[in-house]
Order: sequence, then C-alpha cells, then structure tokens
Amino acid sequence: SLIEERMMEKEKRVFDIDSAASLVKDLRGSFYTGKTKSYEWRVTQLKSVIKMMEEKEKEILEALQKDLSKPELEAFISEIAMTKSAAKVALKGLKNWMKPEKAGASITTFPSTAEIVSEPLGVILIISAWNYPVLLSLDPVIGAIAAGNAVVLKPSEVAPATSSLLARVVEEYLDSSAIRVIEGSVSETSALLEQKWDKILYTGNGRVGRIVMAAAAKHLTPVILELGGKSPVLVDSNINLEVAARRIVAGKWGANNGQACIAPDYIITTKAYAPELVEALKCILEEFFGKEPLESKELSCIVNSNHFTRLAKLVDDDKVSGKIVLGGQRNEKRLQIAPTILLDVPQDSQIMMDEIFGPLLPIITVDQIEDGFDIIRSRSKPLAAYLFTNNKKLEREFVSSISSGGMLINDTVLHLANPNLPFGGVGDSGMGCYHGKFSFDAFSHKKAVLHRGFGGESSARYPPFTPKKQKI
Ligand code: NAD
Repeated sequence: SLIEERMMEKEKRVFDIDSAASLVKDLRGSFYTGKTKSYEWRVTQLKSVIKMMEEKEKEILEALQKDLSKPELEAFISEIAMTKSAAKVALKGLKNWMKPEKAGASITTFPSTAEIVSEPLGVILIISAWNYPVLLSLDPVIGAIAAGNAVVLKPSEVAPATSSLLARVVEEYLDSSAIRVIEGSVSETSALLEQKWDKILYTGNGRVGRIVMAAAAKHLTPVILELGGKSPVLVDSNINLEVAARRIVAGKWGANNGQACIAPDYIITTKAYAPELVEALKCILEEFFGKEPLESKELSCIVNSNHFTRLAKLVDDDKVSGKIVLGGQRNEKRLQIAPTILLDVPQDSQIMMDEIFGPLLPIITVDQIEDGFDIIRSRSKPLAAYLFTNNKKLEREFVSSISSGGMLINDTVLHLANPNLPFGGVGDSGMGCYHGKFSFDAFSHKKAVLHRGFGGESSARYPPFTPKKQKI
C-alpha cells in the first residue's frame, strides 16, 4: 500500500538531523546508566577491538585493497597492527590512568587533601579521513572507550569499502548501545555536527576543520583537529646519505605513496649537495620499486580521480614542469602516479602552496643549510618537521626554533609509532593531541577535587572583616 511504501521510503531516507538527534539521545541515555564508566566495560570493549582486528583481518585487507590498492604488508602494519597496538597500550595502562592523581597540599586550604579525578566527558564524535581509514577511525575510538565515553564514528566516504566494513564489524563486536558507526558524507556529517557533543575529534583537511570547529562552537564543544600541512625535510650534507635516502623514500612513497599526513612534503638542501641527494634518492627508489614503478605492487594508487587530477595539475604547472628530474609517468585509468622528484622548484609555484598529499617531491635549494630555517618559519606550522644531520648544534637549533606538531631527527614518519609521544598539530596543522595516555587524557575531564573535614576553622576567612583580622 501507499502507506507501507512511504514508511519504507522513510526508513531508507538518508541519515538526517532527526536521526542524529535521536542517536545522540540514545547514547547519552546509555552513558548516564554509568555502564561505560566501569573498568570492566572499557576492558571488554578494548579486547573486542583486538579480537575484531584479528578475526576480520582478511576482510579489512580486502577493503583497503579495494579503496586504496594498499600493498598488503603495508596495510597490515600501518592499519591492523597499529590499531591492535593502540588497544594493547590502552589495556596495559588503563588501571593506572583511571586512578585519581594525588595533588599537592596548599597552605590556604589546610587541612585538606587534593586529587585530580579523570572522568569521561560523555558522548564523543569522531570524524575520520580516508588515507588510513582503519587506524584513523579506530585509534581515536580506542581513546574514547578507554576514557569511558560513548562514541559515534563517522568514517570517510572516500574509502567506501572500509567505511561499510567498519560499520558492520563495529556493530558485531562492540557494544552498540554506546559505540556506533554512522556512514555518510557531507549531509550526514552536517546532521551529526548540528548535535551537542562532549568532544569532537576530526581528522582531515583544514577547510573542513574550520567547518567542524564553527559547528562545535555553537555548543561550546571542545575539538581536537588532526589536520595536515607541508612537512619539510631539511637535509644537511654531512650525513650517511644512503641511510637518509632510504628513510626519506620510505616515509614519502612507502607510506601510502605520499598520501599520509606526516609524509615528507618537500626537501630543502644546499645547491651544492642537491645533485648527490637526487642521485641517492633515484637509486633507492629503483631498489624499492624497480625501473618501472607503475608496474610495482609496492605503491598505492591515488585514491580517486579528483585527487589524481589535482596532482597532475601540480606537475603540469608551467613553473615546474621543466624541473622534473625523476618520474612524472602516470596512468589515469589505473590512478597511478610514479614517484616524482622536482629539483629547484620556485617557492611561489603551486606545488609549494598547499600540502601535496601524493607522490611528488619538490626540492628547494639554498646556499647555506641554515637558510632553510627561514623558509620553514615563513610558512604555516607543519604537522611534522624532519632534519637529517650529524651536526648537534644544528639539531639543537632546529628543535628550539622550528614549531611543528612533531619532529624527527635523522628519520621520517617514525615518531608516530611511539605511544609515549603525543600526536597532533599546532597552528594550521591542528590542535589537541592523542595516542597512548594522551588519548585517555584527550577524552577525559580532569576534575579538581578538594576534600576537607570540619576542623581547621579560622575566623579570619569569615566576615565581618575587621581591621584586626586584616592584620592576621
Ligand atoms: P576526507 O576527504 O576523508 O575528509 C575527512 C572527513 O571530513 C570525512 O569524514 C568527510 O566526510 C568529512 N567532510 C568532508 N566535507 C565535509 C563538510 N563539508 N562538512 C563536514 N564534514 C565533511 O579527508 P581529507 O580531508 O582529504 O584528508 C586529507 C587531509 O587530512 C590532509 O590534509 C592530511 O594531512 C590530513 N590528515 C591528517 C591526519 C592527522 O592525523 N593529523 C591524518 C590523516 C590525514
């Protein structure tokens, strides 16, 4: 009948503001029962994340292959193993993290004891990106669960196979009264963003980051923005060039073919050293990906045709097209672009404007390596900054005078893998951080609690404030 048809149509309707509102209401209801606060609930859910990663490994790898043609071993390490390891770190630390922290005494409140109690914030929204669609979705979810919150995850529609797999497996393995996945793109995310959340963690580009922050401001909701930027690599000349080249190539092309938030975006080196560096990079690239990189199974494809066209335009730009010293080949049908190095690109060329997020690596040359500092400082603060050097003084100056989300000396990308380090941006590369205990803290409120008895009365604190009391 017509009524039945209408009903079915309504059910099929996209996720709208009403459905978002009732979702948040349900989760808030679950949160207020107190179940997510218990240590046991948190542990059960975290263990289920690990089980899910183990039992669904094959499906996850297939989805990643479909969405990004990620080489299997790379996908296994950077998505499955890293997610499992984040859950394990949380399981190991949780008991301690949850303990109230004793705070020092203060003479003005004597006698009293003070403590800092970590309490869950409530209902968390996590909006994630396509480039590491499993890790960037589940790593923040792990933090939200560890801190005892209810959570909604909105994976990226740009990796659709992974998004729908996550929706299925999260429902199967985790407590759906408190942990939910909503799939969708702009309209669904906008409906979610209309709601009042207790914290939002967004991973993606700065344009949408601003939309997220504006929506959150309406409800005074705090945000963590995990954005990107142009992460520079400063290469000094007194180094072990073979090791450096290998580490640069691994960080740039070995991690999702440049489609990683902390991938080296551009290199700065001296004019004199540049030819040697380029030769070393060429050698290593050939060793890793062969003479015909488009045939290599070790390189991810470009995620979609929009990004392919964007990247193609960057290399075809008149200002840099003559600067290609390696690569440049592409296959539009298969969305492949070979590792491409451009030497001596002008700083005002398009490729030096926005984050590249693909397999193109421009090199800027300077007279003195120290000149690189000003170039980096004149730009937006990047998510990562890398330096290759044996010069301790230069290293100290780099650490003290360059502002970036994270920093790594004599390697690339690896700082992300130490859970004792916070991961996040600064300035245009984002705000807030997570990973390890920082994830727990990111989704907890640090409640200041002062305990007193009924002793220790002093008339000095109570009116009337007579001149005699003021002398005390
Ligand atoms: P994306 O296209 O997957 O978008 C990210 C999320 O934003 C998606 O879930 C999408 O649905 C949502 N979105 C898009 N438009 C929206 C709108 N108008 N309103 C509300 N939500 C909207 O990912 P992307 O932005 O292409 O990701 C690449 C960027 O993310 C790069 O800048 C990269 O450096 C950065 N990044 C940062 C990190 C990090 O951890 N800091 C990790 C990965 C990527």
